[in-house]
Amino acid sequence: MSRPEWVRERVYVGGSWVVPRGAIYEVENPATEQTTGTVRTATSADAADAVEAARRARAGWGSTTPQYRSGVLRDLSTALRERTELLVDTLVAEVGTPVELARSSHLGQALAVVDSYAELLETFAFEERVQHTRVLREPAGVVAAITPWNYPLYLLMAKVAPALAAGCPVVAKPAELTPLSAFVVADAFEAIGLPPGVFNLVPGSGSEVGELLATHPGVDVVSFTGSIGVGRRVASVASATVKRVCLELGGKSASVVLPDADVEQAVSATVANVMVNSGQTCAAWTRLLVPRSELDAALATAAAVAHNHVVGDPREGGTDLGPVISAAQRNSVLTYIGGALAEGATLVCGGVERPEGLATGHYVRPTVMTVLSPTDRIAQEEVFGPVLVVLPYADVDEAISLANATSYGLAGAVWSADDMHAFAVARQLRTGRVDVNGAAWNPVAPFGGYKQSGNGRELGRWGIDEFLEVKAVQLPAANGAQ
Ligand code: NAP
Ligand code: MG
Repeated sequence: MSRPEWVRERVYVGGSWVVPRGAIYEVENPATEQTTGTVRTATSADAADAVEAARRARAGWGSTTPQYRSGVLRDLSTALRERTELLVDTLVAEVGTPVELARSSHLGQALAVVDSYAELLETFAFEERVQHTRVLREPAGVVAAITPWNYPLYLLMAKVAPALAAGCPVVAKPAELTPLSAFVVADAFEAIGLPPGVFNLVPGSGSEVGELLATHPGVDVVSFTGSIGVGRRVASVASATVKRVCLELGGKSASVVLPDADVEQAVSATVANVMVNSGQTCAAWTRLLVPRSELDAALATAAAVAHNHVVGDPREGGTDLGPVISAAQRNSVLTYIGGALAEGATLVCGGVERPEGLATGHYVRPTVMTVLSPTDRIAQEEVFGPVLVVLPYADVDEAISLANATSYGLAGAVWSADDMHAFAVARQLRTGRVDVNGAAWNPVAPFGGYKQSGNGRELGRWGIDEFLEVKAVQLPAANGAQ
């Protein structure tokens, strides 16, 4: 299946569709391994044009009222909703994510974020007084939004919505592998009549377009989501211009099943969490920590639940896991699994063979394993595939120290018969988010990493802060005093 919206010869810069100077990029559907769309890519010169367009838009957009920007975000939400079927088809085609997940999570969460910023703007305090000082929160300037391929629409909106809410124009550089959904966002902005230059889209390679944005003196904030390696590079090349760099990086999060928890419920939920989006979720609970006395029961449940996950065509309703994004990603995941087995790990479910009946597509079996040591590579590094490592612990202190014993700190879970006992353990985890007993996602709660999972916080009022500068205006007592 292909759609006319998946053939793009122009990029969106300064409110116009312009022909960029780069080559044609063929977007692969990871389920069929066929080209599903084509994009003419931007070069560094096109990206520089986009930065200039954003700079021209900066003062005008920055001086709009919060109420006006709230209205724009509401219009954007409506325009995206009108494109629901196109967006769902696009996300299934470019990511390989199952159609129901594309609708509920990729699109649903993107819309929830846009709506949340429309609402936040109705009450957000852009100004406050501290004694005789007026503290102003002002737009930080031009924002470069550099995003990965795993949730391309949601992760883009998690930057664009708060940046626009703050009064900042944006230059967006989506992942090369998944540019198509970002074009639908540009269509939506065009349809609602967003002022020229407030949203610019320059698809292209990270090494060229991404790096131009990170180094350009006209970019005030780089908001980057992606891998640790590229995050380090972005921060390092951005440092020459001392711009703000917000990093949202990877994770190796732990799901801690406390001794009083319902093991079956906790293990089932953890396996399901890891398999979402074929394991390509930064916050996935990829390490399951269980009391040693419960290890056998946990492995039995994990194997049964993983085995029940249906791998297959993402367009079909009953599919739980589509393919992973690319041949390279599949090889990387299989190398992790094979390497772990060579190091002495034991397979509980899954493995390196192709799932049955799926000769084409970058499919990986839902895999659960135990390892000889929690310091083994597969228990430490982000695999970014449908792979769960189960680790036994002796007591709660050991569970906490194991949970904290990676260089990441993005997310986690705690399971207990007593919510407040779980909360006490959650306090001791060095991680940016913890879900207690499967609590629901909250679009206005902060999201971001401790340690090498990054230095930023997205969503809610924390997300808008990334795009605001703070100015203190001291007034003489007569005018400044309360
Ligand atoms: P990636 O390779 O780091 O790429 C992320 C983005 O950076 C892409 O747009 C990429 O462009 C671009 N890029 C590459 N080299 C660059 C450079 N030198 N300068 C500027 N930009 C550059 O990450 P990925 O493989 O797409 O995504 C997976 C990673 O993202 C995982 O580690 C995952 O945990 C992390 N992630 C984190 C969060 C979070 O919120 N913390 C959310 C989702 C994913 P190209 O596509 O052209 O290479
Ligand atoms: Mg990459």
